[in-house]
Amino acid sequence: MSIHTDRHARRGASGLIDGLRAALRGDVIDPAHAEYDAARSVWNGLIDRHPAVIARCADAADAAEAVRLARTFRPPVSIRGGGHQVAGSAVCDDGLVIDLSAMRGVEVDADRRVALVQGGARWGDVDTATQRVGLAVPGGEVSTTGVAGFTLGGGMALTSRQFGLSCDNLRAVEVVTADGEVHRADRDQHADLFWAARGAGRGIGVVTSFEFDLHPLGPEVAAATVFYPYGEAGRILRAWRELAPAMPETVTPQLILWSVPRDPAIPEALHGEKCVIVTGVYAGPADEADAALAPLRRLVTPLHDMTATVSYVEQQSSVDDLFPDGNRYFMKALGFDGLDDAAIDSLLAWDARRPTPESLIALRTLGGAVARVGSTQSAFPHRRDRFNLSIDAGWSDPGQDASAIGWARGMWDALRPFSNGGVYVNFAGLDDDAGAAREHLFGDSAKRLADVRTSYDPEGVFAAAAQRP
Ligand SMILES: Cc1cc2nc3c(=O)[nH]c(=O)nc-3n(C[C@H](O)[C@H](O)[C@H](O)COP(=O)(O)OP(=O)(O)OC[C@H]3O[C@@H](n4cnc5c(N)ncnc54)[C@H](O)[C@@H]3O)c2cc1C
Repeated sequence: MSIHTDRHARRGASGLIDGLRAALRGDVIDPAHAEYDAARSVWNGLIDRHPAVIARCADAADAAEAVRLARTFRPPVSIRGGGHQVAGSAVCDDGLVIDLSAMRGVEVDADRRVALVQGGARWGDVDTATQRVGLAVPGGEVSTTGVAGFTLGGGMALTSRQFGLSCDNLRAVEVVTADGEVHRADRDQHADLFWAARGAGRGIGVVTSFEFDLHPLGPEVAAATVFYPYGEAGRILRAWRELAPAMPETVTPQLILWSVPRDPAIPEALHGEKCVIVTGVYAGPADEADAALAPLRRLVTPLHDMTATVSYVEQQSSVDDLFPDGNRYFMKALGFDGLDDAAIDSLLAWDARRPTPESLIALRTLGGAVARVGSTQSAFPHRRDRFNLSIDAGWSDPGQDASAIGWARGMWDALRPFSNGGVYVNFAGLDDDAGAAREHLFGDSAKRLADVRTSYDPEGVFAAAAQRP
């Protein structure tokens, strides 16, 4: 950057910061602020971005003021919900972060079975509030994950084959568009904005609240968690490709290649051993679950079976500790219409090279209610996928950056020919940053999405946010 433009940028940044300080009720955090480093960190410790200013909004009016100032000063804009996107897209370099992390309110109307959730809430906030009245919305399986990014990208939950993606349960969103106005978008008003918010909602505006339909579920659920010997992975996967999609819709089965966690409830002799983990939560009364969950428990002889009836809130936070904040993560994802023998062999060959004990691969099963939503009803483009694969490298030593990232990239390259080429935006990482991957992120929705973005944001106030997963 030249001295000339640098001086302009500084003057622009100070005008923006002064404007935010004058207009917002919430905190305005610049690089001199004591909380700057904490406020710019996200879940993924690999991300080290330095925004010019962070506008920590107290309410929708603050978000609207921040957008109006962004329109005047034209900084790159990012929007922070829970800060969990692995690509770190909640934060930007040298720009404005519109940070909703202080807006975590959840209101539940038990009679109407509706929850109103603020744009910075975490799934733990929602589950705690809705479970007080025995209701639930399909949400994240780690309680600290943000509702906003999760839902705007679709949202694959442990109950999605029964209740749909998180975005399928939206009744409406409140969104600040690029003109600084606050709109309600639903099936009737701003229907194109609502269409985009269900699966491709990055860069359409700042969503300040989500209105969800709720389902009776809990306070206890039956949850299968079964650990199988790693040596049986090939046999299990060959059975899985038929069994998982044929399971009743009350079960959304997941298969994970990982290591046995160091959990005191599991025999110590197994801790750290490579294994196949099969999970499934029954999306109905816990005492009716046995028959539906049984096939997950007898794939071969298990190493350990933790299937139990647990509180829904406990289930939804049971793996939180396995994904600690500040560790280093790199993810890649692919959609599959099926898995033939060659795909399974390649998957296992790459899995055998998993670089660290924290790294894993997860195979989620779609179908059921997810597949029944028409492709023009929402922008989520992966409705017909049978499986979603995420390749999740995790590590803590920066010296392992190259090997961990190299493994995830190598596996993705090897498996891509067997996939349908689709990449689920919520699992998209740094390789999908900077707009390189619009087509595989948004598929058939890409063109309509571009039109919606242009009509609501002709000046490109959210252009930087739209370029990031
Ligand atoms: C440990 C872990 C477990 C996960 N498990 C699952 C899972 O089970 N199923 C699944 O589908 N996904 C899962 N994910 C992926 C998750 O859905 C995405 O990371 C999602 O983006 C998280 O939302 P967030 O609000 O925390 O994201 P952020 O990082 O805050 O934001 C992500 C993106 O959304 C945009 N955004 C955020 N808030 C708003 C807003 N209020 N208005 C407009 N745009 C906004 C941002 O611009 C950014 O591009 C998981 C992620 C992690 C880290």
